[in-house]
Amino acid sequence: MHIFELRLSNYRNYAQTTVRLDRGLNLFVGENAQGKSNLLEAIYLLSTLRSSRASTDADLVRRDILDSEFPIARLECQVERSAGNLHLEVAIVGRTTDPQHRAGKRVRVNGLPKRASDAVGQLSSVLFTTLDIDIVAGPPLLRRRYLDMMVSQVDRGYLRAMQKYQRVVQQRNSLLKRIAERQASSSELSFWDQELAHASGTIMHARAEALGHVAVQAAFHMDRLSDGQDSVSVTYRPSIGGLDESDSPIDDTEWTSRMLRALESLRAREIGAGSTLAGPHRDDFHVEINGFSAGPHASRAQQRTAALALRLAEASYLRKVLADDPVVLLDDVLSELDARRRRGVLEFLDSFQQTLITTADPDRVRDIMTRAAGRFVVQAGAITRFEGE
Ligand code: ATP
Ligand code: MG
Repeated sequence: MHIFELRLSNYRNYAQTTVRLDRGLNLFVGENAQGKSNLLEAIYLLSTLRSSRASTDADLVRRDILDSEFPIARLECQVERSAGNLHLEVAIVGRTTDPQHRAGKRVRVNGLPKRASDAVGQLSSVLFTTLDIDIVAGPPLLRRRYLDMMVSQVDRGYLRAMQKYQRVVQQRNSLLKRIAERQASSSELSFWDQELAHASGTIMHARAEALGHVAVQAAFHMDRLSDGQDSVSVTYRPSIGGLDESDSPIDDTEWTSRMLRALESLRAREIGAGSTLAGPHRDDFHVEINGFSAGPHASRAQQRTAALALRLAEASYLRKVLADDPVVLLDDVLSELDARRRRGVLEFLDSFQQTLITTADPDRVRDIMTRAAGRFVVQAGAITRFEGE
């Protein structure tokens, strides 16, 4: 798929902007703090209905209008897809001066109002940022987020199971506390265990499948980008353990029963702790570089390359499941790579319908200039196309 038109109004530092994008490579050049990351964040938000940075809805609305009568940011795009063209609109209400105004996001898909969860993934995207190294070197939470954002774009059932899972964990935790305080009986748990295990089965099955694809692709890209110097292996580590017992793929019913068994064996400890101790909210996956755990052992450059390989693997996963290309977004990541790795990334991305790349330092990425179909300057929340060098 590719975006052919994007409109932003009162979003971040953009008052009113319309950009017509090209197929192929679109390069955005601008000094610091001009709106390059905001632009890619806007596309990511249209795709996932979530900000790529930790932001409240009010942060997304242009500051100058936050105190106005209608503090609303609007994002809109026109997309050509193999599944039919798409007109996607998101309105974000920053602050409710008027009690009649609901805060939050309103979404329209081809003119029809939709719940945010039904609009996720209508536009598919992969975002590369300089923070991606933390997928490899950081805490499990970031690896779970990597998985969740990838799978929920292509699997509505996954997103629903995640939402249900979170509700069930909360209710189950409060029941566990009441049982510990002898205000409830442990027989009440079995209903919630079933609910929890069913949602978990869907989630863990989807995660295992996605990671199976990611593992192969990430290994391929790591080898290519490092010129055969480094290898990466990616392994799912569900919090309930037990993946080594069998080499054959497990279906969601089997995941559900394994989750139930884990809950049974944890019962006394969970009541003592007053919280759910196993399940998708504690999952992780292991990243090893050259046979050693990537966090403590690998160099920064190796970690960065592995993170890049994971994002490229994500792009190929989305392409495979959708039978269409996601839009690829690279926020300032190429200027920190050496020329060979940069070439390795671009050669792979050449096969995608559309890629948007930002840089503050065009001198360091001259090779991209010549490849770009569209070149733009971003300055103080305005985007203008330029030709020539
Ligand atoms: P860098 O090269 O440093 O990464 P950038 O071009 O990516 O810069 P952005 O992160 O897009 O810059 O931010 C551009 C500007 O947008 C910043 O000055 C920031 O303060 C501003 N900004 C962020 N949110 C809002 C908002 N809600 N209203 C107005 N301006 C905002
Ligand atoms: Mg930026």
